Order: sequence, then structure tokens, then C-alpha cells
Amino acid sequence: MEKVNAYITDAPGGTVKFTQVNIDDEKGNVTLRPILTGICGTDRGMVKGSLSFTYNPEGYDFLVLGHESLCEVIESDSPEFKKGDRVVPLVRRPGDCPNCRIGRPDNCSDGEKHEAGITGLHGFMRERFKDFDFNLVKVDDPDLGDIAVLTEPTKNVVKAFEVFEKVSQRSVYANNISTYEGKKALIIGTGSEAFIYAFMSVDYGFDTYILNRHPIEDNKIEMCREFGIKFIDSSKEPEFPEKFHIDFLIDTSGDPGTIFKYVRKMNYNGIAILFGTNGKAPKTEIDGEDIDYIIERNITLAGSVDAARIHYMRALDYLSKWKRRHGEAMNKIITGYFKPGDIDLFENKPSGEIKSVIRW
Ligand code: NAP
Repeated sequence: MEKVNAYITDAPGGTVKFTQVNIDDEKGNVTLRPILTGICGTDRGMVKGSLSFTYNPEGYDFLVLGHESLCEVIESDSPEFKKGDRVVPLVRRPGDCPNCRIGRPDNCSDGEKHEAGITGLHGFMRERFKDFDFNLVKVDDPDLGDIAVLTEPTKNVVKAFEVFEKVSQRSVYANNISTYEGKKALIIGTGSEAFIYAFMSVDYGFDTYILNRHPIEDNKIEMCREFGIKFIDSSKEPEFPEKFHIDFLIDTSGDPGTIFKYVRKMNYNGIAILFGTNGKAPKTEIDGEDIDYIIERNITLAGSVDAARIHYMRALDYLSKWKRRHGEAMNKIITGYFKPGDIDLFENKPSGEIKSVIRW
């Protein structure tokens, strides 16, 4: 392939540049061009150098950024895809462990998998790239429009709820009419992943709260109202109800002090999904009382990372359903369109951002 413009970083140290790159050892039977690529907390964490688990591909002193994308097929030698098809490429690529060999590299058991734009594999923020058809998921619903770019962040949420369902089976978790009505889910953070977790939580029937340590912008308040989500501003902590027991806690902040503060508000048989990553979060102390609290209530803390092909497919179905139900309001999750070459976007979050995307 000839030179193309791309966003690159040097992992795990950080920085971001928009420059020409030549990646001529790339294989694949489909050539793609991104239509939209999304920016997420992981991209910003990498650019800042705060994600020590990231690394450049072998033989390269840089890594092309980008793992959230909606792409168009521009050339295909595959019987499954034709020119003009809209697709979402998978992020994780399997190693050789038993989980990778059954199509679940998201549960890789030896760390030998790779992730496009994150660990050892070039990502999708470049004008063109090649991939194999077995790494692509087709977007069939034409009504999804631009929000199909949310397939990647949504698939993380679908998988995390699968973890929740497995863990919740160890005791009776639902209420006495077999639903989650009346159960409380608290999501820490108000970024795009937090909102997608909140949409899913409402879909499951939880009484759903999202929290940040400052007020949120009007567009986010409006999004909460549209989807039936309640917002808690933890800087007004006295307003946080005294007897508020969290049945399902989801963290997207990666901040251990905040996580443990709310673990101590969890209910019996509660489940916490740890999802946010921030290697530079401040240290916190936990003591024996914290451990006793977790044990006495059978609380489960479970990490959840990435997802498999099945979760991308289900993510597309959820997005279609939410789009049908909420129409134009769902489109408002994309809060900004940017042009290739914009660097500031990686260093500074635009005000009111839920999801910023680059239109290629
Ligand atoms: P994001 O927009 O940066 O979301 C993080 C949210 O947490 C922001 O709303 C942030 O608020 C909030 N926050 C930070 N510290 C907080 C605290 N102490 N109390 C309350 N809220 C706090 O990123 P994202 O794209 O939604 O992703 C969320 C996290 O998940 C990131 O850490 C990302 O790296 C990680 N991630 C994990 C996976 C996985 O597979 N496990 C996949 C994708 C992403 P401010 O806006 O005020 O900073």
C-alpha cells in the first residue's frame, strides 16, 4: 500500500501526530476506508501515556490509533463483502490460547492476543487499510446511519452484561416478579461508555443512575431525561440518599478511591463491573472493614474487557432498537464531528462531549 495520512502515537509513552505512514506488510482480502472513527477514553489515555499495557506493532516505532470505526468496503476479493458495504472491524485478534481458539479472544488466557490501535496492531484512524473478511461485521440496518460507529463501544457493554448475568446466577438476584424493577444500578462516569451502560441498564429494567463529581452539561441532562436515567452530582454528596443500596455498580472512571467509596454502598449479592482504566489515577487505601463489607454481603467485583464477534452483532441489534425507540434523540449521542488532522481533540475533551467522531 502507498503512503496514507494517519493518526499515530508511540505506545506506551504517548503523544499524537497526524502524518503520512507506509504500512506495506499488511495483509487482507478487503480494502477499507473509514467513514467515521470514534474517540474514546482509551485513545486519550494512550496519547497521555497513562496506559502502560499498550505497545507498538513489532518492527514499528509507532502505532496507528483508532479502534472505534465504521468503514466502507472499497475493494473486495471476498465473496461475503462487496464494494460499498458498511462494516465494523473487530478490535481484538486472537492468539493461540484455548479461549482465543474458540472465538473468544476477549477472554484471552495468556495475553498473546492483539488489539487494533491499542496493543501491537495498527488501528483504523488512517485513510485506507486492508483486513481479512473474517475480521469484519456487516452493518445491515440502513436506518442506523452514523450511530453504527457506536458498535464497538456498545459491544463492550453487551459483554459486561453477559458477565453480570453469569455472576448473578449464583443466588436469586431478580425481584419476586422475576424482573430487575426496583433494583438500583449506579454507573460511575458520564462519558460515552457510561451512557451506553446506562441505556442498557434501563433496557434491563434497572432503576438507573449515572454519577460524576461535578455538574454535567445541558445536553447530557437532556439525554438522561430522554432515556429515563437519573444523574447524581457527587460534589453535592449530602444529597446522595443515606439508604441507597446499589445492586449493580459499573465503573467507567478507573478511579479506585471513587470505586471503593461506592462499593461500600452496595447491597447484599451486589455485582460490580470494573471497566474504566486509568493507570495514573491517585492511590487509595482500603482497610479490613472494606474487605469485611464485601465478604459479608457476597459482593462480586468483576473486571470486564473487550468483547467477541457475537457481542458486536448484538450491539448492532441494540443500537437499532434504541434508534427505533428514541429516533433523533439517539443521534445526539454523537456530540461533535471533526476533520482528520485535528489533534486538539485527543488532548482536550470538548465541553458536553458524549461521543466525538472524525469524519474521513
Ligand atoms: P471517558 O469519556 O473519559 O469517560 C470516563 C468518565 O469517568 C468521564 O465522564 C469522567 O468524567 C468520569 N470520571 C473520571 N473520574 C471520575 C471520578 N473520580 N468520579 C466520577 N466520575 C469520574 O471515557 P469512555 O470512552 O467513556 O471510556 C470509559 C473508560 O473505560 C476509560 O477509562 C476507557 O479507557 C475504558 N475502556 C475500557 C474498555 C474495556 O474493555 N474495559 C473498553 C473501552 C474503554 P470527566 O469527563 O469529568 O473527566
